[in-house]
Amino acid sequence: MNGIKYLIIITVLLLALAFVLTNFVFTKNSGEDENEVLPTNTSASVTEGSETAAATEYDPWEDENIDNAWAMFLVNKDNPLPENYDNMIETKVVFESWREYYLDVRAADYLERMISDAKDDGIDLLVVSAYRTIEYQQQNFDNSVKDRMDNRGMTYDEAYADTLAEVALPGESEHNAGLALDIMCEEYQSMDDDGFENTDAFKWLDEHAAEYGFILRYPKGKQDVTNIIYEPWHYRFVGLYYANEIKKSGLCLEEYFAEQGWLDENGKAVKMRGPFEEQERQESERAETSVTSETEPKKTMPSIPYSEQKVTIIV
Ligand SMILES: [Zn+2]
Repeated sequence: MNGIKYLIIITVLLLALAFVLTNFVFTKNSGEDENEVLPTNTSASVTEGSETAAATEYDPWEDENIDNAWAMFLVNKDNPLPENYDNMIETKVVFESWREYYLDVRAADYLERMISDAKDDGIDLLVVSAYRTIEYQQQNFDNSVKDRMDNRGMTYDEAYADTLAEVALPGESEHNAGLALDIMCEEYQSMDDDGFENTDAFKWLDEHAAEYGFILRYPKGKQDVTNIIYEPWHYRFVGLYYANEIKKSGLCLEEYFAEQGWLDENGKAVKMRGPFEEQERQESERAETSVTSETEPKKTMPSIPYSEQKVTIIV
């Protein structure tokens, strides 16, 4: 009798052990399946991957705390845009007055929100210049040289040098990047001096522009660094993160780049060359996927004759 009792007890124990083992293996398997299908786990493994990459070389493209890292690039005499930049961006109408004004479509919403919020605060911002195609900038430059030769008796070399002091070369103006705009207000619309800084519109922009990703690009006292006069009307989109960082730092964009170690000794940006990185990304994406997006029409600014331009263009 005792033998049978022990046999039953041992059998029950073995069954219990078998159940526990089976259950453990089952649970473990189902966990792995979850790992494979749940998007949260997938993104966790991606984050781990980028953290490993960040340990070797910091890549702002992968930093999820930085919005619009694509917009953080320099456009100036030392850092001209690629010649075909007009074909690399899509633009959108962001303001209408006597004509339409365009901006890079990726920055457009930020500007529209800024203009609308300013209006709510009783400030009517007036866009007087935004995206200019490189082609248009060339036309503008050539006309300016010709005007000096025809009407001021200058030689070509004299006219070229004189124009260069006032008009940016094609691809060297931030307006060619579709990320810069000149903002004024009804009460003050002169770029001949910096009187715009005494308006309520300027005070509002000075306080709030960074909240929409825009910086005052050519601040007072930075002319030696930027090579551009103080322009209280010229704002540049760099994304919310960098706009706030730059505002806090009190540096102009060139100085901020230098401080981050993104400039070489000749002032050329060695990091975050936005348009070039974007071009590479687009090319590799195009190579990976099919060419379906190739047929998307690109909106660009219509060419406006020089004579119809009301605003004196500096940069
Ligand atoms: Zn400007």
